[in-house]
Amino acid sequence: MAKDTSINGRPLRPATLMMGHGYDPVLSEGSLKPPIFLTSTFAFPSAADGKRHFEGITGKRPGGAEGLVYSRFNAPNQEILEDRLAVWDGAEEALSFSSGMTAICVLMLTYCAAGDVIVHSGPLYAASEGFVAKWLSKFGISYLDFPAGATGEEIAAVLTRARTQADERGGKVAMIYLESPANPTNALVDVEAVRAARDRVLTPDTPIAIDNTFLGPLWARPLDQGADIVVYSLTKYVGGHSDLVAGSIAGAERWMTPVRMLRNTMGGICDPNTAWMLLRSLETVELRMQRAGENAAKVCSFLKAHPKVAGLGYLGMIEDARQQDIYDRHCLGAGSTFSLLLKGGEAECFRFLDALRIAKLAVSLGGTETLASHPASMTHLSVPEGRKTELGITDNLVRISVGIEDADDLIADFDQALASV
Ligand SMILES: *Cc1c(COP(=O)(O)O)cnc(C)c1O
Repeated sequence: MAKDTSINGRPLRPATLMMGHGYDPVLSEGSLKPPIFLTSTFAFPSAADGKRHFEGITGKRPGGAEGLVYSRFNAPNQEILEDRLAVWDGAEEALSFSSGMTAICVLMLTYCAAGDVIVHSGPLYAASEGFVAKWLSKFGISYLDFPAGATGEEIAAVLTRARTQADERGGKVAMIYLESPANPTNALVDVEAVRAARDRVLTPDTPIAIDNTFLGPLWARPLDQGADIVVYSLTKYVGGHSDLVAGSIAGAERWMTPVRMLRNTMGGICDPNTAWMLLRSLETVELRMQRAGENAAKVCSFLKAHPKVAGLGYLGMIEDARQQDIYDRHCLGAGSTFSLLLKGGEAECFRFLDALRIAKLAVSLGGTETLASHPASMTHLSVPEGRKTELGITDNLVRISVGIEDADDLIADFDQALASV
């Protein structure tokens, strides 16, 4: 890896490092940009090198492989990507995956064994919640959850119950898995409180992982609040152009090594073409997120004052003092994904969505273009009615991810769509 992260003792900022960190043009015919390495395997300089590399891959020697071996384990585009992803979160290492869900599933499989209990915040991304409840349960792994906005006391009580349950089952509390803010309510998890509760009730061997897809890498840095592992769907803000699917995790080497071992076995690493596209995306991630954040602030102040709007779930306009306190301690920006509550129900929301001309009617978020959807009838359709009410997923809720278009054009679009409600 290139030692290119400081000048005269001044640590370089991520925005600067995204242009060259981890890549040396001299190794690729002077090509300014990394070529896409379409190869399944890598030639060893000598048989002894081949042996040494395999000792690293198989874990016989700590520290991982010293050179490239085979593209299921790693390859140049993915290594550059992983070096640059680690920069954003201030992590020792990052690992790339073919989707956010691959990252999450491989992470959980790495740390869970039969008899174990996972504690998670709720709600999670539907597929994450499904993996825990439907798939891990097949292997004798159970779970307990607490609501995203829970207090330190409430979190500690759930961890205590989980510890008792794990003792009875002959397992351990395998992982605390968080997602903040929760979708679609935007309720924030108090990561500092989770860390304090973990340290009080359990041991530091139980990792705290957090899905930072909605606010990372710019607006939240959960490793700074005491999380151990940060998880991303790179499909969203990091990829940022709605043209790829990928995922990643990052954290200390101690936490990454076992996950790397399972990825070496199962596969699921990001492909070289997608890794290359993500390197291009990372060059502009700060610019794009800043602009999207500014646009969302402008759009939300317009929407808030509109007579047909019943409310907003936007982190820039929190009404609850405790949530505001978590925001102040954890967030560097309010993001650009929020919930819009209309006066009325499904019919009013559908009329609004069908009338939009700039914003596209699609699920997903974090792209250059503005997207809008209706969670109750789309992403959360299969959630039982009772749980929907509990989670605040009402029929009058529209989910909006603001992009980087002109803010006044977006406001004009929302204005005319609201007029047709
Ligand atoms: C999209 C998303 C995922 C899943 O990521 P994929 O790249 O679609 O597999 C996980 N968590 C959150 C919060 C997401 O928004």
